[in-house]
Amino acid sequence: MAKINTNYRKLAAGYLFPEIGRRTEEFITNNPGTPVMRLGIGNTTEPLTPHVLEGLHKGVDLLSKVETYSGYGDEQGMAQLRELIVDLYSKYSVTLNSQEVFVSDGAKPDAGNIQSIFGIDNVVAVQDPAYPVYVDSNVIAGRTGEHQKESDLYDGIVYMPCNEDNHFFPAVPEQKVDLIYICNPNNPTGYTASKEEIKTFVDYARENKAVIIYDAAYASFIADLELPKSIYEIDGADECAIEINSLSKNVGFTGVRLGWAIVPQKLVVEGTDAGEVNKLWNRRQCTFFNGASNIVQQGGMHAFSAKGLEESVEMVAYYMNNAKIIREGLIDLGFTVYGGVNAPYVWLKTPNNMDSWKFFDKLLIETRVLGTPGSGFGPSGQGFFRLSAFGHKEDVERAVESIKNNLKL
Ligand SMILES: *Cc1c(COP(=O)(O)O)cnc(C)c1O
Repeated sequence: MAKINTNYRKLAAGYLFPEIGRRTEEFITNNPGTPVMRLGIGNTTEPLTPHVLEGLHKGVDLLSKVETYSGYGDEQGMAQLRELIVDLYSKYSVTLNSQEVFVSDGAKPDAGNIQSIFGIDNVVAVQDPAYPVYVDSNVIAGRTGEHQKESDLYDGIVYMPCNEDNHFFPAVPEQKVDLIYICNPNNPTGYTASKEEIKTFVDYARENKAVIIYDAAYASFIADLELPKSIYEIDGADECAIEINSLSKNVGFTGVRLGWAIVPQKLVVEGTDAGEVNKLWNRRQCTFFNGASNIVQQGGMHAFSAKGLEESVEMVAYYMNNAKIIREGLIDLGFTVYGGVNAPYVWLKTPNNMDSWKFFDKLLIETRVLGTPGSGFGPSGQGFFRLSAFGHKEDVERAVESIKNNLKL
C-alpha cells in the first residue's frame, strides 16, 4: 500500500498567505466598495525595464531559427550567465569561479531544496520570525518533531529570536547546531546586518563546522555602503556558507523566475573534503532540475549587463521610495517603526502591543489597507506587523493617507 510522507501532516495549519486571502475575501464580500489597498504580500508590481525586455525578446528570437535554436542547456546555467554572476560578486571584492555558481528558477526553490544535500540528523537553526520555507522544507524532510500549538514552535528546531532587545539580529545559538538559515536584509523585519554581526555567525559556523544558508534576495536594496551585500565579504565565509539570491525583487522577475546559488569549492562539513558539497549540489541539480528557461537566462544576461544593472538600481529606488513613504507616514502617526531603509519591508510595532492578527483586522476594517501579521512569520513576530514597499507609488500613497485619516489610535 502506498503511503504519504506523513511529515506533511506536521505542517502548521493555515499557511499565512492563504489565511490572509481568506480574511480579505470575507471582508470584501461583507464590505463592498472601494478596492482594498494591498501592502501585504511582497510581490512586485512595476513592468520590466527596456534592456531586460530586449534580452527576453532575444531569447525568444534565438529559438525561432534552426541555426540558433537550443533545447536542454546545462543544468547549472549558461556559461556566460554564470560568468556575469562571478563579475557581479567581484564588485564586492568577492572572488568566485563559475563552477561555484548554480543558476536556478529562483531563490525560494533553492532555499527549499538545499537542505536535501545534508543529513537528516542535522540540527537546524532559524531566525524567528523567518521566511516560512526554511522551516517548512525541514519539516517535510523529517528534520523536526511535531508543531506545538501553544508555543507555535516545532520540536527539534533551534529558534533564534529577533526582537527589539537585540534590534532584530540574533546572537549565535548557545548549543551546537549544524544548518543555520540567515536572511539578510531580512524578510520580514527589514533589518540589515553589519559585517561584524554576520561575522559572529561565520565564526560560529567555522568553529562548529556548521553551514550557513544565506538568503540574500534583498541584497540589491542595501543603500548603506558599509553593509555587506554578500556573506562572502566576510573572511572565511567561503568555508561555511551557501548563498542564494534571485532577480525576483530587484529586476521584477517574480513571475519570470531566475535565481542562483553559490556553493563554494572551499565549503567543508563533517567528513568531507573541499569540493564535495559543491559536487553534491551539482548532482542534486542534475538529477532533479533541467536548467532555467533559456529565454529567461537571456533576460538575466541583460539584467547583469551595465545597462541592466542601471535599470535595476532605478527599480529598487522606486520601491525604496515607497518604503520611505510608508516609514515616514507611520512615524508621523507615532508608530514605532523598524526596517524600510536598506530593505523593502517596514516592520511596525502594533499599538499597545495589540495581537498581530487583531491589528490586521483593525487595519483592514478601518482603513481598507492589507498588511501581514508579524506572528505569521514566527512567535517572535507577535505584536509586530509587516508592510511591503512593493506596489505602485500612487497606491502606497493612498494607503498611507487612508491610515493617517482613518485608523483609530
Ligand atoms: C521573495 C523572496 C525570495 C525570492 O524567491 P524567488 O523564488 O527567487 O522568487 C527569496 N527569499 C526571500 C526571503 C524572499 O522574500
